[in-house]
Amino acid sequence: MNLTPGQTHEAYLGPSSGPIDIAAFLSAGHPGNTPEEIGTSGAPSQARGLQLSAREEWSTLDAAQQEAVQSECCVDDLRALLNDTMSNPRLMNHVTRTHDAFVQAIYETAEPTRRKRKRATFADPEDELPEVRALRLKHEAIALKCWPLTIHAASFIRPSKQSDHNTLVNVKTIGSGPTSEGQRDDALLFVTVYNRLSWGQKFLSRASQHVVLSSQTIGDFYEAIPCSSNERPLEVHDDSGDIIGYKSRQSDDMATDASTSGAMVCIENVLYGDGQDEHDYADKAMQLVQTLPENSRPHVSLGASMHDVKFASLTMRLHEPYWIVHAGKCEHWFIVSSIRLRHPSDPRSGYPLTTQITPALSEICRVCTKVPALFSVVGDMRFGESPFLICGPCWRWMGEPKDGSEVLVVPVPVHELGWSNTT
Ligand SMILES: [Zn+2]
Ligand SMILES: [Zn+2]
Repeated sequence: MNLTPGQTHEAYLGPSSGPIDIAAFLSAGHPGNTPEEIGTSGAPSQARGLQLSAREEWSTLDAAQQEAVQSECCVDDLRALLNDTMSNPRLMNHVTRTHDAFVQAIYETAEPTRRKRKRATFADPEDELPEVRALRLKHEAIALKCWPLTIHAASFIRPSKQSDHNTLVNVKTIGSGPTSEGQRDDALLFVTVYNRLSWGQKFLSRASQHVVLSSQTIGDFYEAIPCSSNERPLEVHDDSGDIIGYKSRQSDDMATDASTSGAMVCIENVLYGDGQDEHDYADKAMQLVQTLPENSRPHVSLGASMHDVKFASLTMRLHEPYWIVHAGKCEHWFIVSSIRLRHPSDPRSGYPLTTQITPALSEICRVCTKVPALFSVVGDMRFGESPFLICGPCWRWMGEPKDGSEVLVVPVPVHELGWSNTT
């Protein structure tokens, strides 16, 4: 497989932090205090000390000194300049086109083998509008050495990827947490979920991002993860139990499916099943481990049901990938990127929150190769391939086979359930 350094780099998770006892972190913070983030080099008490001393220092300054500092740090002039440019479509168009052309030129020089795209063209100076010319001359006159992009910038530029996009317009509230008022000493965990790339199973790519409360359970978080397994079509059976067709899943079917498909989360070598069956995924995994030769058994132990285990009772490492398996063999990984105390300005309810969902790539119709496929047709001789992916209009045009042979038409997941702000 031929991956660019960028892809290899982005598929790499970690390094992980030391273990963080979330309950100890909570008890170290006092309700109502300034929240603090802990990172891989987390030293919360030291950070708080610095914040407090800066704040005390500020209050000792007299009004004239405070005003002098405020006017020195003020960026209102820059903001006005930026707003003026961004609110003028002609100026904004010039800025974005110039930037895109520079980036493309750097790319092509750094990677000569790269497929050449149509080169972005600059407007002819003759046709340039006076306001655009004024802005261009102003930019060209900037004396700052680091202002222009040089060839060395190539190492820091990468094309935008699918995982940079977001299907959500606003933060999406999934649950009803916090469950009780007065949990002001709660913490927020910022979690990123990764899936395997469909074209490179060894590599992971960001699928979604969530914010969960430490007072919530692993199960609350698990149920917030969007996954196309939840959209598998439902089988339609006849009286004798044979499959006679499939139908798309509706949102009411999600609940019944979540309780029957099974799930397991592994955090720090402890397996948490969903407790929905007498022998859930975690019990079965433990049984499987027992069948392995003693020296090759993974060191895992059985935890309680994921719906009974709160994050506040766990010790976790930041940037350490933890494993989720559900719905047969659908796998996800997740990392906690940061933990901080709740702040009065944080959303009051609706946790877990979903802040980002990478748009799902749909399979394209094999007939017109233009629009996403809606159906997977099984057993239709006319296509010479089974199953065959086809869009709605193309399938209507083809129609059912006239020779009476039986075909199965299976609806393809359209990534509607759980993928947008409204579902
Ligand atoms: Zn899944
Ligand atoms: Zn089509």
